[in-house]
Amino acid sequence: MKSKRQSNARFRLVLTLTLAVVFPALTLIFVNYQHVKSIQRDKKVEALIHRDFQYVLAIGAKKMASKGYGLAEEAREAFPSADDSDDEKRKKLDEIVQKNPWFTHVFLYDAKKGILLEPRHDLMSDKEADESGRMYSAWFNLEGSYLCGQLSRKPKPIMWMAGESQKENGLVYTTTAIFSFPEVMRDRTVLGGVSFDPNYLKQKFFPQLLEELTSQSVTTDPDQTYEQGFHELMPQGGIEHPDQKLAMMVYPADVLKAEPDRPLAKSAGWGSGKPEVTYKLDDPFRGLALGIKFQGTTAEAISRRWVWQSFLILGALSVLMIGGLVLTYRSVNKQVALARLKSDFVSNVSHELRTPLALIRLYAETLELGRITTQEKKNEYYSIIRKESERLSALINNILDFSRIEAGAKEYDFRDTDIAELVHNTLDSYRYQIEQQGFALEEQIDPGIPSVKVDREAIARALVNLVNNALKYSDNEKFLGVRLYRDRSVLKLEVSDRGIGIDRNEQSRIFEKFYRTCDPLVHNTKGSGLGLSLVRHITRAHGGDVEVESTPGRGSKFTLSLPLANET
Ligand code: ADP
Repeated sequence: MKSKRQSNARFRLVLTLTLAVVFPALTLIFVNYQHVKSIQRDKKVEALIHRDFQYVLAIGAKKMASKGYGLAEEAREAFPSADDSDDEKRKKLDEIVQKNPWFTHVFLYDAKKGILLEPRHDLMSDKEADESGRMYSAWFNLEGSYLCGQLSRKPKPIMWMAGESQKENGLVYTTTAIFSFPEVMRDRTVLGGVSFDPNYLKQKFFPQLLEELTSQSVTTDPDQTYEQGFHELMPQGGIEHPDQKLAMMVYPADVLKAEPDRPLAKSAGWGSGKPEVTYKLDDPFRGLALGIKFQGTTAEAISRRWVWQSFLILGALSVLMIGGLVLTYRSVNKQVALARLKSDFVSNVSHELRTPLALIRLYAETLELGRITTQEKKNEYYSIIRKESERLSALINNILDFSRIEAGAKEYDFRDTDIAELVHNTLDSYRYQIEQQGFALEEQIDPGIPSVKVDREAIARALVNLVNNALKYSDNEKFLGVRLYRDRSVLKLEVSDRGIGIDRNEQSRIFEKFYRTCDPLVHNTKGSGLGLSLVRHITRAHGGDVEVESTPGRGSKFTLSLPLANET
């Protein structure tokens, strides 16, 4: 019956824990696991990084274009008017070339007057200048007026001619702006142009811009750059993306389309290797492409690390959850066991109270009826009544003491006491009972025990509890040994029996409140499970402790140790 109730409680506990904790927690962990798995499978981290890369590149391309246009437009503003004299025009063109060292040459074409081309002499030989002049001339003679018409329709009257050309030192990339002058009469064909120095582009223009882009995109505008993507991705917004530095490069895309391993210019930190994302440039740098990657890592590595971290966190959470569950289960189990002990205690105590009361009443009533005639019989009845009432008050004292201890209100009255006499007197008042129950009592009190400061009543109660236990838990061999002796600075009070003994596993638990061993004899014996917990409390309050040595079937020995340091 009892165990059924207990297993019911345990079942309810397991059910509650499963439904309220395990199930939701497992679901949460499983869903998170699936989420991380799907991110891993669909390469979502990489995709987000690449999307952000694309964004950075688009911005970079825009900046490059506007800078290229800016330089060309600035030069165009300074161009001479078509109506200026030739000398004037030359002078102005020369000024442009001198002021803007990034152009190899500038030219002005007038259908009526031919071409004027002003080279930077340190960059272009006269021969090359003549050749270029002739080339432009031939082209514009054919298509000049068509070009002018086209340009005038554009929002910016500038077109670009870009590409790689073979020079003595290998392939070089350059770009040339050709523009019209809308203010000139429509029927006239006048075109101007500036051509960028390939070396300037390669060594200054692109590197500077790349540097600017790679440093800016991470630090100055983090909300709009690639970092944004990471935050959207995080399931609980938990993992911070490490501040990865970007590296960018420009390469000729038309030449080596898929293998951009011949960068024209690169930002610091590019190292080597391929870009993760590329972006083809339009005018003015058509034919080139931008490439981007992280410095020293890849989107894949970041993704792998993220996935790994997520799994690690999930794993740690699972372990914590399991640990928490085990703890909860154990602590609730303890509570359930304690509740059971308490209810056992109540029934034990009521039983224990009832029996002596019934006996007292029975014998008192019998005496009252006056049917007992012999004095001897009467004396026997009186003594039973006295013993039962003693048992009753011992039990009630135990319970009162226990409740005082539980409430933290137990007070001890330490006084100098002749403990040898205390032990002897206490035993004396039980001697009759002990002997009547057929016990051989061996009392051994060493002479010369010093007086100690103790609470008389408490120590006597501890001894009575131990003696009572010895009497209760002996069946075949009825022996009770009480020894009081001095062991260096400790006073020892031993109570031993040759009774049923206590199983090794239970020896530490018998001092717990309400605890009673599983032995059938114990169950058939009245008891509250409070005695030993009181004994321990009392000895500890005296600065000592209580120990048990016991062999099942052979007997037990309880030893109280009281330090003599309390001696005065
Ligand atoms: P109670 O005797 O009222 O059950 P105690 O706290 O005095 O409570 O003892 C706790 C348990 O320890 C007992 O129920 C019994 O199982 C065991 N025990 C105590 N003393 C002895 C002993 N001398 N021999 C065997 N078992 C004992």
